[in-house]
Amino acid sequence: MIMSELYGSMVFDDRAMAKRLPKETYRELKRCCEQDLPLSLDTANIIANAMKDWAVEKGVTHFTHWFQPLTGITAEKHDSFIAPTKSGGVIMELSGKELIKGEPDASSFPNGGLRSTFEARGYTAWDPTSYAFIKDGILCIPTAFCSYRGDALDKKTPLLRSMEAVNKQGLRLLHLFGRKTERLNMTVGPEQEYFLVDTAAFNKRKDLFYTGRTLFGARPPKGQELEDHYFGAIKPRVVKYMKELDEELWKLGILAKTKHNEVAPAQHEFAPIYTTVNVASDQNQLTMEMMKKVAAKHGMTCLLHEKPFDGVNGSGKHNNWSLCTNFGHNLFEPGHSPQDNAQFLLIVAAVIAAVDEHQDLLRISVASPGNDHRLGANEAPPAIVSVFLGEEITGILQAIADGREYSRRAGCDVKIGVHVLPKFSMDSSDRNRTSPFAFTGNKFEFRMPGSAQSITTVNVVLNTIMAEQFEKFSDELEKAEDFNQGITDIIRRVMNEHGRIIFNGNNYSEDWVKEAKRRGLLNLPTTIDALPYITSEKNIKLFESQGVFTEAELRSRQEIYVENYCRLLHIEAMTMLDMANMEIIPAAIKYKGAVAKVAKNCLAASVPADDEKEIASKLASLIHSAREAVLSLEKAVDTARALGDNIKGGECYRDNVIPAMAALRKVCDEMELNMAKEYYPMPTYGDLLFSVH
Ligand code: ADP
Ligand code: MG
Repeated sequence: MIMSELYGSMVFDDRAMAKRLPKETYRELKRCCEQDLPLSLDTANIIANAMKDWAVEKGVTHFTHWFQPLTGITAEKHDSFIAPTKSGGVIMELSGKELIKGEPDASSFPNGGLRSTFEARGYTAWDPTSYAFIKDGILCIPTAFCSYRGDALDKKTPLLRSMEAVNKQGLRLLHLFGRKTERLNMTVGPEQEYFLVDTAAFNKRKDLFYTGRTLFGARPPKGQELEDHYFGAIKPRVVKYMKELDEELWKLGILAKTKHNEVAPAQHEFAPIYTTVNVASDQNQLTMEMMKKVAAKHGMTCLLHEKPFDGVNGSGKHNNWSLCTNFGHNLFEPGHSPQDNAQFLLIVAAVIAAVDEHQDLLRISVASPGNDHRLGANEAPPAIVSVFLGEEITGILQAIADGREYSRRAGCDVKIGVHVLPKFSMDSSDRNRTSPFAFTGNKFEFRMPGSAQSITTVNVVLNTIMAEQFEKFSDELEKAEDFNQGITDIIRRVMNEHGRIIFNGNNYSEDWVKEAKRRGLLNLPTTIDALPYITSEKNIKLFESQGVFTEAELRSRQEIYVENYCRLLHIEAMTMLDMANMEIIPAAIKYKGAVAKVAKNCLAASVPADDEKEIASKLASLIHSAREAVLSLEKAVDTARALGDNIKGGECYRDNVIPAMAALRKVCDEMELNMAKEYYPMPTYGDLLFSVH
């Protein structure tokens, strides 16, 4: 198929709608999307019918409302288009009502106390700004998922609300600059890292199968030391996979753009071209699903876990974002005139204030047990949030704050005052790969998110905290007697109060951890350290005042995330116990017995067997240690379990279970290195990391 026919062929996108809808209906839909108005039932009926015809022509028989419950993955429930006719036949039908509203009896999704089972019904509502698409022969309609009282039960509803908040407050600020902007949206391009392993090897590992990561495994002789994988030639099997993935994504209207090998063996990266945040977040969920599906067709398994292998880099998801007007103006684009630059610097000041005031929320937005293995492990940014701006922009902002002239690195002095700001451009070599939150020329790159996480929560936080600053700035500027002086005052205040969040150095260094502590920045190393902050007074006030979450919705999320932390760790611990008791220790016993038998035979034949005896003894002592470690882990799990799936229980997993897991792993990995390969009951790290050719 040629590209122009392939691209978007499975999406009921703008092109398809323009072609298939009556002009009036099309115009009405656009108007509703742009102004966030509800669709009338008449309009919805016409759209539903056209959408159904389009899908049926492609062989589709079923549709589903496609949504993102708080499990972080997507959910669907299929209904057929079939409707009986009076004459006993059937017709294919999709009504406007079915399009815009669904009622899945989805009572088993986590809701954190937002509904009791007797009023369990939630409903799903179409988000017409995100296009319907066909996946596996099913028409998928992207929806938000709410309770009957209107509580958000999903990840999308708050995202749509936060988009509204940043639009509202952003427009206020832009209008003060005399702009005619009608709509402000966040745009996002997520870079997605992942691993590919051979499915035959994957299936022999209970840990990968149940938890998505290896819980045992001695390091292979070769890992990523030579860095020969990064940007290296892609293996033929992976090339075929990437090609098919690109095509599948293009069909879905996802602008798959970049692909390359990453630092760790078997690790790769994918990036699409950026788009509006709600679409980007739907598309990222779809991309992750497709990555797994296409891999299966090639006999491979795609690992999206943040840390599938100890000792080699884990996987992240860089959230590249900016704010873009309906005229295509990116607010993070340094401008061409003094006025443009004043606006640019003010927007950057808003980022500085927002990130500093809400370090906790940004940390929470990327908190997961999987991501805990990455943050701060010298491969990903630390769990401390800071902002990289580069020397030039930092210098300019500081000069404004200090009320002095700024001299450029090149040596030529430029007079500073908001009305005569210099033209400046970002030096492309001025890059920092270690910062969790880096300005990269015309966008910010938030690098803390984990590879398996939905990008929704991160962007809800970014939208909301930006909206809050825009609101504050607009309030201040509306009152200011002199507009330019008002801007200078704000920049000065922000630099004085929040300048501590700017750090242009090496975030991976030990010194930074100390320096950050001196500056009073938050360091929340684990998920369970971060989660209690969700419901702080500051955060409830922020989300309620911006209309993004109610207090009850925040409490529900906290409850669900804490529960999830405990349950996940419980599963990991149980998987380890199973593997140790049922596979690794029995294998070591068998090998010990075999070696002991050889020793016995040798001795009977008067052949020296000192080494065999030593090997068998060493194994005996390792087996003993492993059994002790098993008992300790069992005890730790029982204690944590008894406390319940709450913060106390979570702290017990963090403080007792995780160290007990590490201790058990250490002995078992040593057993692996002291055992003949044929006795070790599963593929090793070497087998897994170099399994795809
Ligand atoms: P890098 O040097 O980090 O690889 P790229 O230019 O390849 O940067 O972009 C990485 C991602 O950032 C891509 O998904 C790209 O579409 C996205 N991106 C670029 N500009 C913007 C923007 N203005 N807003 C949001 N995302 C953007
Ligand atoms: Mg990048």
